[in-house]
Amino acid sequence: MGRVALSGEMTRARTVLGTAEFIYAACLFAVAVITVSFATRASGDPFAGQSPAVAVFFLLFGLFTISTGYHTPSGVYVSFDRVAQISCILVLGPVAAAWVNGLASLLYPWHRIASGRPWPKVLGAALHNAGLMALLSLVAGSLYLWAGGQVPLLVLDPMLVPALLLLLVTMQLLNDLAMLLDSWISGARLYWPFNGFVMTVEGASALAALLVALVFNRMELPVVVLMFVVVATGLLALTQFARMRTHLEELVNERTRRLREQADELERQATRDQLTGLYNRRFADRFLNEGVRDFVRQGRAFAIALIDLDHFKRINDRHSHQVGDEVLCRIASLLLDNCRASDMVARFGGEEFLICFPNTDLARAARACEHLRAAVEHTDWSDIAPDLGVTLCAGVAQMRPGFDRGRLLRQADQRLYAAKHGGRNRVEVELAS
Ligand code: GH3
Ligand code: MG
Ligand code: MG
Repeated sequence: MGRVALSGEMTRARTVLGTAEFIYAACLFAVAVITVSFATRASGDPFAGQSPAVAVFFLLFGLFTISTGYHTPSGVYVSFDRVAQISCILVLGPVAAAWVNGLASLLYPWHRIASGRPWPKVLGAALHNAGLMALLSLVAGSLYLWAGGQVPLLVLDPMLVPALLLLLVTMQLLNDLAMLLDSWISGARLYWPFNGFVMTVEGASALAALLVALVFNRMELPVVVLMFVVVATGLLALTQFARMRTHLEELVNERTRRLREQADELERQATRDQLTGLYNRRFADRFLNEGVRDFVRQGRAFAIALIDLDHFKRINDRHSHQVGDEVLCRIASLLLDNCRASDMVARFGGEEFLICFPNTDLARAARACEHLRAAVEHTDWSDIAPDLGVTLCAGVAQMRPGFDRGRLLRQADQRLYAAKHGGRNRVEVELAS
């Protein structure tokens, strides 16, 4: 037994009450007060012939069932207030139930002030829930009476089944419609009520409400008290169990998230160079193998460039190792800025870098490298060290029929060597003759 997310509890739990929502809540409350007042006038005293203790009892029972709820990890608030609300209609009738159920929903949200919720939000929730609950009780209860329903309900007569079904279905449908409307107004994810678990819980709650009403109306006080103790204990046990389950689920989600983060970090460490954040040699080797394989199998163009900083040892010696490290990091950014997202830039050795250009021919890779060379040459390095200048050499090669990975790398290396011998600060595409 139980009920899910009735009277706006669910939406209250996960939305920030904005102005539109507050106006909607206030209007709903005003409409409910006017409607229920008119209904009270028309029907005479709805509590006539009842002890005030009965109304107070259903108010307290309502508050108890709303509070025996729990938040699922997805933010839905599941509670069992349907049991009290429907049984109240079947004992006191729709008009009295509208007052009692509305008042319970008006009172319930205020405990949230203690947990730091701002009062305008709590007021909005109270008005919304009270207005909705009062209207739901009045409309569904009146339809029940109109269809021949009995108040107080004393027998489970098959003739009463259509009226009872009308009561339960109307209550559920109106509630779900209101939840949908509320989630739409608040801009939250749309509430979708047609979920097997939710509907089963709602159905069982409605049956429990029938049982409560029948026992309340027919049995002597000690039996009624006994039943309430049993029902209350059952609800508390269910809630406790559900809270434990939710807690466990949250724990598992948290652990899974942390494990995923650790796995991502390990993957990052395994494939990245610590100093520059570029890919490391291990990753570059894998990427090279794939590029070579794609050329061999599918003839897809694949070019590479081996890049080496000129006289880097001098930079270390003249300035410091620290300055050398800063230069390497700045070079890494320049390489990334001047390459496409599909290119792979790796630190291949100390001050050597490898760029792989998938789907790129030699001429285009050479142009990219020339662009890069010029960018490095014209970079202002004075913020790292005064009168610091950095240049680089690049050897560019592309996969050709009959080449393997070793041959490709060798050719790029030979061209790099040629660039060094050609005077440095150069990009070499053809082997020097
Ligand atoms: P060339 O123009 O012929 O390439 O001359 P070079 O001085 O750049 O070449 P060489 O191979 O003689 O020196 C490379 C230097 O790079 C030596 C080494 O100390 C330095 N180096 C390698 N890794 C790092 C690093 O992580 N940080 C720093 N600061 N220096 C490094
Ligand atoms: Mg070198
Ligand atoms: Mg060098």
